[in-house]
Amino acid sequence: MALSFDITSADTRAALAARVSVPEKPSLVGLTRAELAETLVAANVVPERQAKMRASQLWHWLYVRGVSDFSEMFNISKDLRAELDKQFAIARPEIVDEQISADGTRKWLFRFPPRGAGRPVEIETVYIPEEGRGTLCISSQVGCTLTCSFCHTGTQKLVRNLTAEEILAQLLTARDRLGDFPDRDTPAGAIVPEEGRKVSNIVMMGMGEPLYNFDNVKKALLIASDGDGLSLSKRRITLSTSGVVPEIDRTGAEIGVMLAISLHAVNDDVRDMLVPINKKYPLEELLDACRHYPGISNARRITFEYVMLKDVNDSLADARELVRLLRGIPAKINLIPFNPWPGSNYQCSDWETIEKFADVVNRAGYASPIRTPRGRDILAACGQLKSQSQRLRKSERLALESMMIAGHGEA
Ligand code: SAH
Ligand code: SF4
Repeated sequence: MALSFDITSADTRAALAARVSVPEKPSLVGLTRAELAETLVAANVVPERQAKMRASQLWHWLYVRGVSDFSEMFNISKDLRAELDKQFAIARPEIVDEQISADGTRKWLFRFPPRGAGRPVEIETVYIPEEGRGTLCISSQVGCTLTCSFCHTGTQKLVRNLTAEEILAQLLTARDRLGDFPDRDTPAGAIVPEEGRKVSNIVMMGMGEPLYNFDNVKKALLIASDGDGLSLSKRRITLSTSGVVPEIDRTGAEIGVMLAISLHAVNDDVRDMLVPINKKYPLEELLDACRHYPGISNARRITFEYVMLKDVNDSLADARELVRLLRGIPAKINLIPFNPWPGSNYQCSDWETIEKFADVVNRAGYASPIRTPRGRDILAACGQLKSQSQRLRKSERLALESMMIAGHGEA
């Protein structure tokens, strides 16, 4: 039986787009060097004896020069470029939205194509320029399975893990948009450090729990830190976890990046309520894993993140207990003023309380910077990320703005 569709009808086109999954060309981004060589040989694009050399050539174009089109790879013959283009993809994801905060923070909403039978997904990535450095906050999952009660992302169900390619694509595309590859000019209006790299640091602190997507995060971070490619020092890469204890040792041993722990409470009762994964891996186990983190030293401290929630975890007794708990662990403590979101049940501690809390921690010899919220006006601050599928309605946005004005005044 022959079927005919009226493809001029928008409804029909939408229905087709939803049902028919067009086979994607496989991407060469996010493969290890060995996988890249094997892929080229398996596709009959290059003979085995050339595979290593070609893989190195491509690696350089992808990760040093930052190209996203085979036609720019000038030292590769036209025929080979055409063949690569026929079989593989290296294009950047779609940028659905780019917002720039009054303080120079940028937030992108990226859309990635469906994987297998799934749907396209959207995630957020944030760039925070500071004096002498620029930090990119990268997402590891679409949504999160964990439900930390103060976190906006935690209210969005997990849709899926991001692939290594999608994790790296956030870094590559941000560097494009900031003019952070050689021979590219900084686009007009970009607020970036005056000297050095525009993306000098990355933090896995966007949407999702990176240790629930260990293999893809590992692959992406090893590529990001490869000395012949993107070349970010592992000391400038920080992975933040809510406390997935069984993966902490592997993070140090197999990835070797800096670790941040979302601690937020000093006893199990409060932590069970704030960070429910604590019921599975309580404080004692978590701190024990930190004590044994591979590579830990005074020069490579663990960062403990502590969100300041009014009347929940912000007493001076809490501050003293924090100091006691961390004794013997080379640590930095980041005090994060709570960032509100519509529907959240918490308030940020008063500024005076935060300062007193910080004093106790400082006097005990720990650096304890109070993290100035950045990009709150575009909902780019810690814990405010949530993607398109559940973005704010106008009424919610207005409610949020009034919450921030009523808050402690740095919105
Ligand atoms: N899932 C990982 C990494 C992403 S969250 C983790 O939980 O560590 C990045 C940081 O933002 C975490 O320390 C998290 O606890 C914190 N955070 C979440 N919601 C927040 C909010 N509303 N205000 C301030 N910090 C928040
Ligand atoms: Fe997930 Fe981290 Fe948010 Fe907890 S704080 S819900 S682990 S993203």
